[in-house]
Amino acid sequence: MGVRVEKTNFHFMSYSIVIGLEVHAQLSTNTKMFCGCRVEFGAEPNTLICPVCLGMPGTLPAPNATAVESAVKMGLACGSRIEPRPMWTRKNYFYPDLPKGYQITQQGGSPIYDKPICTGGHLEIDLEDGTRKRIRLNRIHMEEDAGKLIHDLTVNDSLFDANRCGTPLIEIVTEADLRSPREAYLYLEKLKQILEYLEICDANMERGNLRCDANISLRKDENAPFGERIELKNMNSFHNIEKALESEIELQAGMLDRGEVVKRVTKRWDVQKGVTVSVRSKEDAQDYRYFPEPDLVRLSVTEADVESIRKVLPELPEARRRRYVEVYSVPPYDADVLTREKAVSEFFESVCAVTSDKKAASNWVMGEVLRVLKDGNLSITDLKFTPQHLGEMINLIQTGAISGKIAKTVFEHMVAEGKPPEQIVREQNLSVISDSSAIEGFIRQVMEQDAEKVGEYRSGKVKLFGYFVGQVMKACQGKASPDQVNALLQKMLAG
Ligand code: ADP
Ligand code: MG
Ligand code: ZN
Repeated sequence: MGVRVEKTNFHFMSYSIVIGLEVHAQLSTNTKMFCGCRVEFGAEPNTLICPVCLGMPGTLPAPNATAVESAVKMGLACGSRIEPRPMWTRKNYFYPDLPKGYQITQQGGSPIYDKPICTGGHLEIDLEDGTRKRIRLNRIHMEEDAGKLIHDLTVNDSLFDANRCGTPLIEIVTEADLRSPREAYLYLEKLKQILEYLEICDANMERGNLRCDANISLRKDENAPFGERIELKNMNSFHNIEKALESEIELQAGMLDRGEVVKRVTKRWDVQKGVTVSVRSKEDAQDYRYFPEPDLVRLSVTEADVESIRKVLPELPEARRRRYVEVYSVPPYDADVLTREKAVSEFFESVCAVTSDKKAASNWVMGEVLRVLKDGNLSITDLKFTPQHLGEMINLIQTGAISGKIAKTVFEHMVAEGKPPEQIVREQNLSVISDSSAIEGFIRQVMEQDAEKVGEYRSGKVKLFGYFVGQVMKACQGKASPDQVNALLQKMLAG
């Protein structure tokens, strides 16, 4: 008879976890990092290329000013130090997706020429226990992307698309400050949010606009020196990163339990099997033969440059949250939900421009609008109705033209048809009945149907009143104001 071995969470508690992340973010510039080729996803393979991004002998790269500005924006958003004279280095390696045989980057083997555009800084994450934690950044540097290998089973061969060669990237590297896979996840969400707010990266995960390498090691306790780490390469889903880290923790803890030595290797996450797989032993800096890029002079980023970029920095999520609480008087929780996605927050502000009831605007956006997006797996730009329509609908509730209940019906029509709310109210005959003679008509109708109950009421069974209110509301399909129904009913039932 076999023995069933149960998987436990024991390891998660007995070791202290250390994680550091390196995220590559593709900058959403029109053209590439060092040439004028267009940056575009999904174009015909090998059409967006030129001798420069293919690294032909005799060509010279010229840096993209917008890409440099984007990197500075990210640095400013994270409170990094901006390097006045960043340097370019050449990282040499062979891989079939890299026709040049080297990559121009700002990462160097030597402190003399390791001068990335941004150093230091931090991001803050909100932990689930309500506390905030600061994750320090080591650096943000610029580099160019490689091409893409397409492993197409139908042609039984690997194909190469050079369109991505030379696309501008920034690499954002943390200090080893993260202490759990969950913290890594929260950090990535925050990072993505800031990139989106700055509008420097599309942050589309499926398209590989954000790719993450995760370094992870275990140690006996919080005070022990860092253990040997492994590096999980090239993941592009936050959930997979969290899962891969959890699985790797389990693995390393088991090794340490058995007294084995963790070796510094590079691994990848096998999504199908749910396991981490070794790819190669970790390369050292000397393997890349880094040296200062001979084809480029050092960049010059003056204080005036930095200040002019700071001036055009868009409002960041943190500031926007505060403004919502202060200016719109919405609760901090609302402000947090509303600012999570820049496009959603902009939608909310457009609603607020039309209506004075900011709390109602917040409730409708957080509730019904987000529900519609989630149910339909839509983004806010896919909606048929505009924020102006929603604002007008809230005004109809405010002026008493429609009831809150009818508003739900109007809203469903807005979602389906994209028509202005007034038109829907008119077409569907949904406006409130405020004409008292009309309401009296409904009351008379109910009293005739329920003549017996009217008698009971009149002989003292006054608790039947609620029943009559319900019947009248039903008869008028909820289109009368309950207050008005109450008042008229009192009078008419009294006889
Ligand atoms: P590499 O040369 O491998 O890129 P770096 O020193 O640039 O190494 O560090 C890469 C990432 O690994 C950083 O985010 C850093 O915080 C993290 N890191 C470094 N040491 C450890 C460790 N012992 N455990 C976990 N993460 C680590
Ligand atoms: Mg690295
Ligand atoms: Zn080119």
